[in-house]
Amino acid sequence: MIKLSDVTGKIALYIDPNTGQKHLRATCRHTSGSLFHEFSSSEDVEEPTYLSLQIDHNRHIHLKPDFLQYLNHSCDPNVYVDVKRHEFICLRDIEVNEEITFFYPSTEWAMEQVFDCKCRSANCLGEIKGAMHLDRELLARYKCTPHILEKLHGQAEEQLPVNEPDTH
Ligand SMILES: [Zn+2]
Repeated sequence: MIKLSDVTGKIALYIDPNTGQKHLRATCRHTSGSLFHEFSSSEDVEEPTYLSLQIDHNRHIHLKPDFLQYLNHSCDPNVYVDVKRHEFICLRDIEVNEEITFFYPSTEWAMEQVFDCKCRSANCLGEIKGAMHLDRELLARYKCTPHILEKLHGQAEEQLPVNEPDTH
C-alpha cells in the first residue's frame, strides 16, 4: 500500500499499487461512537451512480469533501452513515493504519453497480447489490439508515396475508 496524502490530521489516502484502488486509513486512533467525518453534497444526482451515496428515499449525492468517495465497502465495517446529521460515525474503536469502511447496503437500496466484495471478513456476503437483495435478518445485524429500514418495513407489510389481522 502506498500513501498518497494526508487528507486530514486523522485520515490518509492510500492506493493499492496492484489494483489501483484507493482507500482511506486512520492515522490516529478513533474511538467508538466518535465522529469520523462530516459530509455534505457536492452534487445531487437523479439516479444512483457507483460514486453516489443514498441519503433518503429519492436522494442520491456525491460526497463533499471529495476524499470521502474513497470510503470502500466492507461486510465488517468500522463506520456507519448518520444521514440526518450528515456524519460518518465510528462503529467501534479504529486503530492507527486500519482501513475505514462502511456497509454499502446500509444506505443503498438498489445499487447501480454490482460488485464482488473482497473484504475477506469471515462473514463476507460476496456479491453486493444493495439492501433490497439482502435477507432482513442479515441486514438487522448492521446499522442501517432510516430510509432502508422504512423500505424493509414496507416490504414486510406487502408480504402480509390479505386477511384482517386477529385483534382480540
Ligand atoms: Zn465482504
